[in-house]
Amino acid sequence: FYSLPPSLFPSHSLTHVLTTSGIGLGVLVREYASLSNLDKQYFGFPGELLMRMLKLVILPLIISSMITGVAALDSEVSGRIGLRAVVYYFSTTIIAVVLGILLVTTIKPGVSQSADNIDREGTTPNVTTVDTLLDLVRNMFPENLVQACFQQYKTQRKEIIVSNPSPPMNTTTFPPLTTIFTTVIVGAYSDGINVLGLIVFCVAFGLVIGKMGERGRILLEFFDALNEATMRLVQIIMCYMPVGILFLIAAKIIEVEDWDIFRKMGLYMVTVLSGLAIHSIIFLPLIYFAFVRKNPYTFALGMAQALVTALMISSSSATLPVTFRCAEENNRIDKRITRFVLPVGATINMDGTALYEAVAAIFIAQLNDFALDVGQIVTISITATVASIGAAGVPNAGLVTMVIVLTAVGLPASDVTLIVAVDWLIDRFRTMINVLGDAFGAGIVQKLSKRELERMDLTSDVDVANP
Ligand code: ASP
Repeated sequence: FYSLPPSLFPSHSLTHVLTTSGIGLGVLVREYASLSNLDKQYFGFPGELLMRMLKLVILPLIISSMITGVAALDSEVSGRIGLRAVVYYFSTTIIAVVLGILLVTTIKPGVSQSADNIDREGTTPNVTTVDTLLDLVRNMFPENLVQACFQQYKTQRKEIIVSNPSPPMNTTTFPPLTTIFTTVIVGAYSDGINVLGLIVFCVAFGLVIGKMGERGRILLEFFDALNEATMRLVQIIMCYMPVGILFLIAAKIIEVEDWDIFRKMGLYMVTVLSGLAIHSIIFLPLIYFAFVRKNPYTFALGMAQALVTALMISSSSATLPVTFRCAEENNRIDKRITRFVLPVGATINMDGTALYEAVAAIFIAQLNDFALDVGQIVTISITATVASIGAAGVPNAGLVTMVIVLTAVGLPASDVTLIVAVDWLIDRFRTMINVLGDAFGAGIVQKLSKRELERMDLTSDVDVANP
């Protein structure tokens, strides 16, 4: 596997060059070729293929990495590692939310705008925070394992789609957005894997296998071999990555129709993006340094390929194969940690999404001249955290769970349409921060778990995780 010639694989700089070329290609085609919708679809085909390949390996990757990861640890150790990871996830998410709230209340991107053209008589879907929490728990215990591989529990979300097929927007500013909104919701959930459910099952299964001793060994070796085979597939997909990325980004540039929307939403985007920048350039590195005492930026550089992938494809789950590779090969994080921490992180640890949800909710309140009291701001922080945990690692998932935050403080859920148009761009950046947060988390958990890992190395005769 490792003896494949390294020159076969795209280097970081090549990925950057191709990304920039993708933007250039997109601009050129936009300028000089008038493509029909069908042509655009053909043009985007190589990019679509990359997405399909990455999604293809998610399932075997999550299953094999989680089961072997947990089984290779003993239950006491995995409990402690899991606890550290969860404490990290929660604290960084809360920091992100607070940062977002501070920024949006200082910059006030929505305050000067008129809310006259907003029709608030929409049917607000009846989704409460409790409903969302219950859905989250339901998703953790899927009743059918096969079904969990391609479907999430989504009763409440169905209700949103049905009760709100075309949010009432009596405005000339954002006419086509209602359709996009519905499409986004249906799209985000129709191809979702119930990752949370699979993770819970795999953790339990891995723990049981780990406790079975000799009898469990055959299963452990099976999943370990499956994991290695999947990673070999990932290596092959990486060869195709430059081509895929080039076309993915070029096709997106061609698709954008209303550039003027950027001007209208400029300040809102500046708020979200500066929050994401502060969180990723200052807060996360500081936290990493405080625990690991190594250069966080070198670490982040090691993750560059995963970050660029996240930026391109807006999905933490689909980026997972690349995240694994960067964390293990470039940053030398122990496989027993990555296998455990990264898949869980890609599903529940979304600092970027949490920050965005808090900013967007307050921005919408400002647009509506809706004064928020302290209680409502606290509610926004809690629901934004829950909504980010509940969001799947797929494109625009945060936009869907945004409805929870809005309804929790009595804002019209249909106002999500106000921010849909720029979500394709913001989603990329928040996904990148989500992935970076997971990676730093793995680095910190590895450092904190050093003693346990060393003890395991001494006691185990054969190390299945690192043969
Ligand atoms: N696209 C994000 C992710 O995959 C989720 C979101 O929409 O915020 O991490």
